[in-house]
Amino acid sequence: MLGILNGRVYDPANGVDGQVQDIWVQDGRIVAADQVPNREAAEIFDAAGLVVMPGGVDIHSHIAGSKVNAGRRMCPEDHRADTGAQNGVTRSGGGHSVPTTFATGYHYLEMGYTTVMEAAMPPLLARHTHEEMNDVPLLDKGAYTLMGNNRFLLGCLGHRQKAKARDFAAWLLEASRGYAIKIVNPGGVENWKAGKRETDLDDPVLGWDATPREIILALADISTELGLPHGPHLHVNRLGQAGNASTTIRTIEALDGRRTHLAHLQFASYGGGGRHPLRSAAAEVAAAVNANHNVTADIGQVVFGPTTTMTADGPLEHTLHQLSGSKWLNNDVEEETGGGVVPMNHARRNTVSALQWCIGMELFLSLEDPWRTFLTTDHPNGGPFTAYPEIIHCLMDREFRSQMLSSLPDKAQSRCGLAGLQREYSLQEIVIITRAGTARALGLANKGHLGVGADADIAVYAPQLNWSMMFRRARLVVKGGRVVVRDGQVVAVCPGHTLCVTPGWDEGILPSLREHFEQHYTVGFDNYAVQDDYVPYCEVIRCK
Ligand SMILES: [Zn+2]
Repeated sequence: MLGILNGRVYDPANGVDGQVQDIWVQDGRIVAADQVPNREAAEIFDAAGLVVMPGGVDIHSHIAGSKVNAGRRMCPEDHRADTGAQNGVTRSGGGHSVPTTFATGYHYLEMGYTTVMEAAMPPLLARHTHEEMNDVPLLDKGAYTLMGNNRFLLGCLGHRQKAKARDFAAWLLEASRGYAIKIVNPGGVENWKAGKRETDLDDPVLGWDATPREIILALADISTELGLPHGPHLHVNRLGQAGNASTTIRTIEALDGRRTHLAHLQFASYGGGGRHPLRSAAAEVAAAVNANHNVTADIGQVVFGPTTTMTADGPLEHTLHQLSGSKWLNNDVEEETGGGVVPMNHARRNTVSALQWCIGMELFLSLEDPWRTFLTTDHPNGGPFTAYPEIIHCLMDREFRSQMLSSLPDKAQSRCGLAGLQREYSLQEIVIITRAGTARALGLANKGHLGVGADADIAVYAPQLNWSMMFRRARLVVKGGRVVVRDGQVVAVCPGHTLCVTPGWDEGILPSLREHFEQHYTVGFDNYAVQDDYVPYCEVIRCK
């Protein structure tokens, strides 16, 4: 039993905006004051003068699995840059942009985050992803299952077998213990395997009777039909390329009301291209998102400094390798997806990096609905998640932001509309874009708020003039009812849950799946699905 008393509470899902309230916790849940039978026996934390909010919920981050681990192996320099030491409760571990599993859990918790979604899980490599997620202490986690380039699915779509495609998607979510459908450069990764570098929305997928548009619409419909708590999580075609805003806007139009989450929108909001230099198209993309209430988006803000890029978008990483000259890893995943890793330095004096920073900020300030706009860096692509406090400071403090802008190359400043945007985020809006809104978009009814019955995931901060300082280290973090962080230090460790869905599917699909595996996979069908042992802390979130 725990009472957090007299704090200024920010709980936008329940309409609480800084009022002084008491929060009571029992058996891992928030309870009403009059439901606490023996308040004298409760542990009390006096939060007078402090800010209380739900634990952070990160909707898009790469924290576990084969490509994250490849990034760790590839970049020993990243680990030398940031070492960690055990303190009797924590284990050793470090890493700046690709931290070890343990350090990932500790650093998120120290900032007050309690739930993080791994944004791209190749189903064939799901065991690795779950083993690492189990290794990440404290956080609740879920993983999005990659499907946008799956050859079995492409076969179903080519033969116009909609019901079979739906049953396959449902089976694959269960087999991989995934949480949502992930689509990365649909058709484009398959085309990359055949040597084609760029694939737009209506280009053919080579060897299949399907286009990216058809893949996206089919998976969006399937998400709805299966009642998945989170809509399809879409990394659009032509991500990272000059002039890709037109593809992004056409994709939003094509969705035509279908619920969809657009991942790391900053990387999809570029003008220019051809003989024209890169420029911001944030205003045009933001207008499309503002007008289409079926769409949510996380930003994928770039922050300056060294990082490691990693994505299932194999051709994109090849392009980054060619542009940067950095070392590169390509990892095509059999019948399913691809992937690549390239270390990168987002240098402040580099026009492209500076412009990417501006475009992310411009999107944050131009997207009108905070309930559909979420804070991410697409960790570690735009930069490590540990930079979130600095981004919050930029959003809340116009003066600080304009100082940052004025330090950037003139070409970056002149090719975006950031200088004309005066908006400052309120603290309540920050709570929405980092926890209340993300929890809602993920369909996590017990997270992102502090109402009775919610999971007791709570973050308490000491207000400071510098917002970055405030959000860097939480004064107190409660996870599932347990105090796990005090004064920015992890003081207790426990495993987090793995969030999964079990949408159900028709067994009639099994014979053709078995045949497909026997013909094309290096893994036997009976060995493919992730066994229970790999998800010991599984929590099934109900489909509608
Ligand atoms: Zn990502």
